[in-house]
Amino acid sequence: MRIVLLGAPGSGKGTQSQRLVERLGIPQVSSGDLLRAAVARGTELGRRAKEAMDGGRLVDDSLVLQMIRERLGAGDTRRGFILDGFPRTLAQAEALERLLRDLTQPLDAVVQLEVDAAELVRRISGRRCCADCGRVFNLFTSPRAAIESELCPRTGAPHRLTQRPDDNEATVAERLRVYEEKTRPLIDFYRARGLLRVIDAMGDVEEVSRRLGQALGAPALRAARAAKPATRRAPHRTGARRKAAQPKSARRRPKSATGRAARRGKARAGLRVNTRGKSPRTTRAGQGRPKGKPR
Ligand code: AMP
Repeated sequence: MRIVLLGAPGSGKGTQSQRLVERLGIPQVSSGDLLRAAVARGTELGRRAKEAMDGGRLVDDSLVLQMIRERLGAGDTRRGFILDGFPRTLAQAEALERLLRDLTQPLDAVVQLEVDAAELVRRISGRRCCADCGRVFNLFTSPRAAIESELCPRTGAPHRLTQRPDDNEATVAERLRVYEEKTRPLIDFYRARGLLRVIDAMGDVEEVSRRLGQALGAPALRAARAAKPATRRAPHRTGARRKAAQPKSARRRPKSATGRAARRGKARAGLRVNTRGKSPRTTRAGQGRPKGKPR
């Protein structure tokens, strides 16, 4: 699926994107994260973007577009992506449309997350990110004990929570103003294309996540999930090592002990034969199921 999440700063685009990544196995493409990474690395893009970001203004369309074009050219977006924070202007939306047309990868849905202004400010002031893995938390909505007990997947230590420099009061006011002026018009842009779905993004994360799933369409989500590549693959083993790694009960028996003939033999010998599972399991007739072996 190719999805755009639209919404004001603090509407939960980042949090809901992370959940969709886990659900669908497609990458989140966050323009804000990409820009912050460029600033942290001190690249030319980062240097040119920093001033606008610190002031709560938008970075030049041309810089952002170049960055997104490169990101969407990477192989991992071929199966789909979640755009978070991009597009933010009509010029960006039009350029994205052209880019995706060239790639023959049109958008499937644009979801607008609606949150009222007072709640946006509250959420932004409580927002914290892990400096190592980038995971986003909220001091008001995630229980503190849960945040502190969770380990960072990058370092294995507790998350190092930091506040974004642009999550301060003055910058937030400017970001919300810029959103109303430059980004809100995208709602009509995508409505006119029949792609827009609007959800109420007030309430807890689980509830919003459920509404988002409904807006994207349960059948479409199921199809995307079915196409999701396995996240963990069994290590490649061969011959004796594979056999040694299997529990004894799962190891293949010699041919003579399997199959219909063997089952007939066992039945004659007073053994009850379970033919439902792949590997025949036997229990002494009258003894019932062995302990710890559920039906
Ligand atoms: P975000 O993390 O999405 O709130 O973005 C943080 C900051 O990065 C914004 O306030 C902008 O300065 C800049 N930024 C992120 N995405 C864009 C974009 N699509 N166009 C222009 N500037 C952006």
